[in-house]
Amino acid sequence: MEDTVVAPATPSGRGGVSIVRISGPEAPLVGAGLCGELPEPWCFKPCSILRKSGEVIDFGLVVFFASPKSYTGEDVVEIHCHGNPLIVDSVVAEAVLLGARIAEPGEFTKRAFLNDKIDLTQAESVADLIAAQTSSALVAASTSLSGTFSALINKTIDGVVAVRVVVEACLDFSDEESVSVFSEKKTQVRRGVVESLGVVGSLLDASRVGSKMREGLGVVILGPPNCGKSTLLNALAKEDVAIVSDTPGTTRDLLKVVLDLGGLPVEFIDTAGLHEGTEEAVEIEGMRRAVSAVDRADLVVLMSVVGEVFDPPIGSSVKTLRVFNKIDVFPELSSSSEGVYISALTGDNLEGFKGAVFDCFGVGSGIEVPVLARRRHLSFLEQALVSLESSLSTLDGGGDLVLVAEDLKEAQNFLGFVTRPVTSDELLGNIFSEFCIGK
Ligand code: GDP
Repeated sequence: MEDTVVAPATPSGRGGVSIVRISGPEAPLVGAGLCGELPEPWCFKPCSILRKSGEVIDFGLVVFFASPKSYTGEDVVEIHCHGNPLIVDSVVAEAVLLGARIAEPGEFTKRAFLNDKIDLTQAESVADLIAAQTSSALVAASTSLSGTFSALINKTIDGVVAVRVVVEACLDFSDEESVSVFSEKKTQVRRGVVESLGVVGSLLDASRVGSKMREGLGVVILGPPNCGKSTLLNALAKEDVAIVSDTPGTTRDLLKVVLDLGGLPVEFIDTAGLHEGTEEAVEIEGMRRAVSAVDRADLVVLMSVVGEVFDPPIGSSVKTLRVFNKIDVFPELSSSSEGVYISALTGDNLEGFKGAVFDCFGVGSGIEVPVLARRRHLSFLEQALVSLESSLSTLDGGGDLVLVAEDLKEAQNFLGFVTRPVTSDELLGNIFSEFCIGK
């Protein structure tokens, strides 16, 4: 039997209300020890929150969620006290004295998963919901939490199973019969496999965008001093987040800001101006950092004043976008070479710049994604796609039916792993360690 855990469910700090949550078989006992007799399940009761000694810690509310109708599926008691870390710490400490243990990060959600209250994609989306950086990411996370992603996966599995049933039925016949039965069913099987391929393919596309939305993207802005990098960052952020100055070398360190570009969390990194001939140590260090940021970037914006070309020595594998600035000063030069022409100062064609960034990432602006996918999901979807492709090529090449059946079974398993992986402690450990304590 699981032990009983306790943790604050609200962040540390001062506020109107903080909540301490207790979950496990002893939760009613611990709760009653702190708040007196518990109310009926799902009802709030005003209470004094007491130490064992009888001393009052606070006045608050207590609510009891009887198993299995609770977040974790276990008996859960929530104590709502005033939002002061000293009160919260005292309530938690007292609960520990009464037999509870401090919960590990993500332990409440892990228990919900282990007790079949939610599947793994839903559990993951709880963490994503808390961590979401843009409103679109928030919508996508709550859509996943509501089970939409799981439902899509399950529907896809149903499609694969329907095809498998036909193939397996053919295999049940003797070799000779199997060939003739299958020749009748081949069109149906092929259609089913092609349909599943289409569904998994589009799920994978949506998940790839979702994974970018979840993880965010890094854009490094490189360019010579005074070409307008900081001004561009300011214009994008619509507030003064970077230092703008006429003196070359002002931006000596990396300056990062995460912006919500049409729902994508994009981290723009303004760098030290790249130029030769400087001997100042701080500036040289700034330039070194700029170059190393390039290695980790999803996109490098090569910025220069219109009419000038900026070609820093960066690897050819890095995705780049050329941006020519100050078209307000040199409008006659605004189509001389390939790239985006802007005026960071007047804001001219900033929308064109954002559109070009989207294009580089292979997503349209104003994207709508149903899921906030993780690498784990992408990898299983990709493997399911490979198995389905293999079954189709075996079918089309007139290959062995047993191989088709094997590939379909594999595809089904890979899809199943998205929502219900064969759980190893290591995998669960990795997933739930991302959570904060109390979730
Ligand atoms: P950085 O060194 O590349 O970060 O350049 P800054 O953003 O600090 O800009 C250097 C100078 O150029 C400042 O005086 C800016 O006001 C000016 N500047 C930046 N962008 C533009 C632009 O689009 N048009 C004009 N006319 N001036 C600009």
